[in-house]
Amino acid sequence: MHTYDNQLFVIGGGSGGVRAARIAAGLGARVAIAENFRYGGTCVIRGCVPKKLLVYAAHFAEDFADAQGFGWTVPPAEFSWPQLIEAKNREISRLSGMYEKNLIGSRVDVMHGTARLVDAHTVAVNGQHVTAEHILVATGGAPFVPPIPGIEHAITSNEVFDLPHLPKRVLIVGGGYIAVEFAGILNGLGAKVTLCYRGAQVLRGFDDDVRMHLHGEMVKKGITVLLRQDVAHIDKRGDGSLSVAFIGAQTDSLSVDAVLYATGRAPNTQGLGLAEVGVDLDSAGGVKVNAFGQSNVPSIHAVGDVTNRITLTPVAIREGAALAHTLFGPTPVSADLTTVPSAVFSQPPIGTVGLTEAQALAQAGQIDIYSSKFRNLRHTLSGRDEQTLVKLIVDTANQRVLGAHMVGADSPEIIQGLAIAIRMGATKADLDATVALHPSAAEEFVTLRDKITRSA
Ligand code: NDP
Repeated sequence: MHTYDNQLFVIGGGSGGVRAARIAAGLGARVAIAENFRYGGTCVIRGCVPKKLLVYAAHFAEDFADAQGFGWTVPPAEFSWPQLIEAKNREISRLSGMYEKNLIGSRVDVMHGTARLVDAHTVAVNGQHVTAEHILVATGGAPFVPPIPGIEHAITSNEVFDLPHLPKRVLIVGGGYIAVEFAGILNGLGAKVTLCYRGAQVLRGFDDDVRMHLHGEMVKKGITVLLRQDVAHIDKRGDGSLSVAFIGAQTDSLSVDAVLYATGRAPNTQGLGLAEVGVDLDSAGGVKVNAFGQSNVPSIHAVGDVTNRITLTPVAIREGAALAHTLFGPTPVSADLTTVPSAVFSQPPIGTVGLTEAQALAQAGQIDIYSSKFRNLRHTLSGRDEQTLVKLIVDTANQRVLGAHMVGADSPEIIQGLAIAIRMGATKADLDATVALHPSAAEEFVTLRDKITRSA
């Protein structure tokens, strides 16, 4: 029998890798982990956490304005981008340090450096060969940018968190999570924002009413949204500004101070040596794994964004935990990813769980749709013209709730609770039987009465 330096070697110290390492160590395994940037990964360092901090920062602009409707006299507010970034950096460093400390506290051998596969049981880190019975690839993803002329002048979500100044005029390219979230952030902080998306409506894959509603609210907040339009090329002018030429009908060109590309992310597998040791990759470079996170090479596993499936932090965490239990626990565990809720921290934010109307119609054949649009109580005094949307999709035949969607303040907080009910198989009657919590926006979900029935 072989003896290895470790029972598990984890490549990548992000959400999935760290969770797998700590649980495996807790189950008694000898574990080492290597990270070549900062412990915490995309979510902690340049994703979910700093993004949400920036969302809070941006929202103050509306809070100051709304306060006047409640009797406050607010002096003109001033915003300092460097001060925000410095505060954000302090918190990110604290969190990253916690990740590392927790790993050490779990008796994981923590390494700093780039790991590469040498063979199915060996990795090279900082010129040293380390062997392991199992190797977990948890290297996440990185921004993808299309190779258009002048793309070198654009930034991505990797750079936007550390810009020295807030750009005055920004073009955001893409219509997904990152694009609409940063449109809200940069607009709230005072930049003139234009979002340009190649498709017919932002947030492809979300419920159509949600997409339309968010679009309307973004426009009301002063964001210019260009649809069916893409960038042809970007040129840098002598004064440092950027001139963007478009393909598409609405605008020919635009002058901005920054172009932020948010055109998706690709799995981080280049240079890892995966193909060389025979690991199957998909067309985007993602590691192909079975339901237990195992690749076609039995000792090599992968979790999280590098597998190019559901690229959400809580999913990577689930997959990492499941893998550790599979390898070192009594029975194999597969992450249960039914009814994964998700949020888009746009302004206003989106919370969603379950099927969209189109998906539900295709799956159930006949559905009941309940929806409501209203102005939050807060805005009766603030005077702000912001509408909240709530929508429920119910299977006509068995009355089970198939999807719940909301666009409006606090919707991610509200949808988390509904996700539990939907996962447990709640019916419309269960929601109706639940006493409302008044006055709240959430109570709409238990008071919806008017339905539209649709058949496929
Ligand atoms: P998304 O996949 O969400 O969106 C990518 C966008 O870029 C789409 O609108 C897509 O258009 C467009 N696009 C893709 N390729 C091109 C191209 N060549 N030219 C022009 N446009 C293009 O990716 P993001 O980068 O926004 O985010 C990556 C992932 O990270 C998300 O999918 C999500 O899983 C995760 N994430 C989650 C967050 C959250 O939970 N709140 C926040 C941020 C990220 P089309 O629709 O036509 O394909």
